[in-house]
Amino acid sequence: MNQLEIQDLHVTIADQEIIRGLTLAVPKGEVHAIMGPNGSGKSTLAKVIAGHPDYVVTSGAVLMDGENILEMEPDQRARAGIFLAFQYPSEIPGVTIANFLRAAVQARLPEGEELEATDYYAELYKKMDLLEMPRAFTSRSVNEGFSGGEKKRNEILQLAMLNPKYAVLDETDSGLDIDALKVVANGVNSLRSPNLGVLLITHYQRLLDYIVPDHVHVMVGGRIVRSGDKNLALELEEKGYDWVRTEIAEPVGV
Ligand code: ADP
Ligand code: MG
Repeated sequence: MNQLEIQDLHVTIADQEIIRGLTLAVPKGEVHAIMGPNGSGKSTLAKVIAGHPDYVVTSGAVLMDGENILEMEPDQRARAGIFLAFQYPSEIPGVTIANFLRAAVQARLPEGEELEATDYYAELYKKMDLLEMPRAFTSRSVNEGFSGGEKKRNEILQLAMLNPKYAVLDETDSGLDIDALKVVANGVNSLRSPNLGVLLITHYQRLLDYIVPDHVHVMVGGRIVRSGDKNLALELEEKGYDWVRTEIAEPVGV
């Protein structure tokens, strides 16, 4: 089955259970949004999918096209087609964007195959144009001194260059003004394809005005408490998160 599938996942950190029986499937070609209040475990889910070592999966499974990725190292997952855009991207002083991305693209090629510099730069500049990033950007150190918007744009540039099968975007909208938000959303929309599944994590409905999701899931207390179409996001925006905390008192699928 071509989907990213999370089955009854339980995740603990520092002896505290953060993800408490989460089940979700993102078929290839679809965009699924996860919305939820702060502290509900959205970033934890993103990091567990990517393979962050601090989080302990106590039970459940994460399958990519039928293969359990929880047994794979983070770099293996990335090469297999998982991509995570961080909520808080790291700065890498001394490593330029051009060199960083080149190493990342090279690492995905079969052993012994060399990335041609001219091909690489042609592709890089094409993707940068798509994201309205000035060329001078490539010679700056990764995220060092970047504005919030520049950092997020850089995450989407990585996504564009790496061609993953499934991308998890963790609050790619946070810290963006409306113009930067539109550029990022245009970038993501232009990458939508039958070959890419997207899990779009957001706190606010605003992003979903620009990246219209196929499905919306609401996460509270480490579980999906409600799923629907894009109208669920509008309902949530209107009624606020207190609505799901109170009216949806008992989560489904316990
Ligand atoms: P969200 O992204 O939905 O705001 P997070 O996944 O960041 O939520 O956090 C969920 C809960 O897990 C919070 O209570 C947070 O304090 C806790 N948590 C997350 N990461 C850690 C960590 N590294 N150590 C201890 N607690 C953590
Ligand atoms: Mg978060």
